[in-house]
Amino acid sequence: MIEVSPDTACMIYLGSAIIALITIWLYQHKYSKKSEKSSFSTKHFSCEFCHATYLDNPVKPFTRCPECQSLNKNTG
Ligand SMILES: [Zn+2]
Repeated sequence: MIEVSPDTACMIYLGSAIIALITIWLYQHKYSKKSEKSSFSTKHFSCEFCHATYLDNPVKPFTRCPECQSLNKNTG
């Protein structure tokens, strides 16, 4: 059996705990980024004024037309 001093055992214990925490943090960071990306979806809108089609967030009650800068109501 390999002889391990109490200091080395403590270092291995703390090192593995830090590695576990970093792994959990990286996993959560990756997961939160993914969910953030999926929550933002786009929808096709047609401008009431110039009839241009554009993409915007469907959560907004009003969207701004990139062509004529007019506000269009989000009809759902
Ligand atoms: Zn427009």
